Amino acid sequence: MTDTEKLLRELIALPSVNPAFLPLNDARAGEGRVADVLAVRAARAGLDVHFQKVLPGRSNVLAALSPPGKIKRRLLLAPHLDTVNVVSDKQFVPRSAQGRIYGRGACDAKGSVAAMLTALSRLARQGRRPVATEIVFAGLVDEENAQAGSRALAASGCQADLAIVGEPTRLQIVTAHKGSLWFRLETRGKAAHGSCPHLGKNAVHEMARIVDLLESGYARQLLRRRHPLLGPPTINIGFIQGGTQANIVPALCVAGADRRTLPGETEPSVRAEINAWLRRHGLRAALTSDKSSRCPPLETDPRLPLVQKFLQTARQKRPAGVDYFCDASILAQGGIPSIVFGPGAIAQAHTDDEWIGQKSLAAAAALLLKFLRTLP
Ligand SMILES: [Zn+2]
Repeated sequence: MTDTEKLLRELIALPSVNPAFLPLNDARAGEGRVADVLAVRAARAGLDVHFQKVLPGRSNVLAALSPPGKIKRRLLLAPHLDTVNVVSDKQFVPRSAQGRIYGRGACDAKGSVAAMLTALSRLARQGRRPVATEIVFAGLVDEENAQAGSRALAASGCQADLAIVGEPTRLQIVTAHKGSLWFRLETRGKAAHGSCPHLGKNAVHEMARIVDLLESGYARQLLRRRHPLLGPPTINIGFIQGGTQANIVPALCVAGADRRTLPGETEPSVRAEINAWLRRHGLRAALTSDKSSRCPPLETDPRLPLVQKFLQTARQKRPAGVDYFCDASILAQGGIPSIVFGPGAIAQAHTDDEWIGQKSLAAAAALLLKFLRTLP
């Protein structure tokens, strides 16, 4: 078994479920155990370790390999330490079979954690310290809920020339991902007795027409807008609630829409676009979006020198894009150019039989080490 596999199995066996998904004080909640183990490992490899407090009992763990002289550039290796919840505690028992390692977090994102820390530790042990580049492993808390870890790191004034955020990308170097906006739509009607519908105004009917319009004509229009790495933006109406009983004309109906955005689309621009569509079709709804659900898209310039170097090392001709949102966007908003890279595939993330391929895990660690060695 390789060092990376050993570390991954150890991490899977240490539950770090995001506390948002578990009752208060559940023993399986929180990133603390994982952060402590990584801190010990990193210190043993000769890295300078410290914790950055984010929330009560929850800290980012930072482990730096500093150059002997003046720091001219900084690279962050930034995977997250938390996982989603489990359906069974068996998911905390790592299991190897048919070239795969199974367990909660195997690909999202403990595989990246293991590959990144192993690569940096190997570099430190080999005495191949870059002359003027500081490399910092940053294990972040809370990605699966509110991204408090990456927000705290960005707000701390941490500066870096590039962050490689660890998520399952099938070893593809990703420079763009979509953003998401959740809108609440509300239609108002007028209640009346179900026997006299002409005396009321049916809010459910109005919403039904709106949903049909957004899921058909509007969605088709979005398909014509294409980003070279991300394809078109999308919309999904995820819930609808209206009325109380069959014999009352409903006065209120609400629906929720998830609009996945491309770089360049903003909350005000999307809101104005949807409102204009509704108006054009004689429909009206109050549209609101909650600040905490706004996740901006990511688009990092692939011509940045460190991105170019990483692409060359990986022999990848052009960068890729992914649909899902992650810490990269938060760090980029905070002024740190960010890309996404890691072993495993997002299709296995959050599943009941989450797994990662041993080959993919080994390839990630090897590629990262190769890249780190090229840093001046
Ligand atoms: Zn993840």
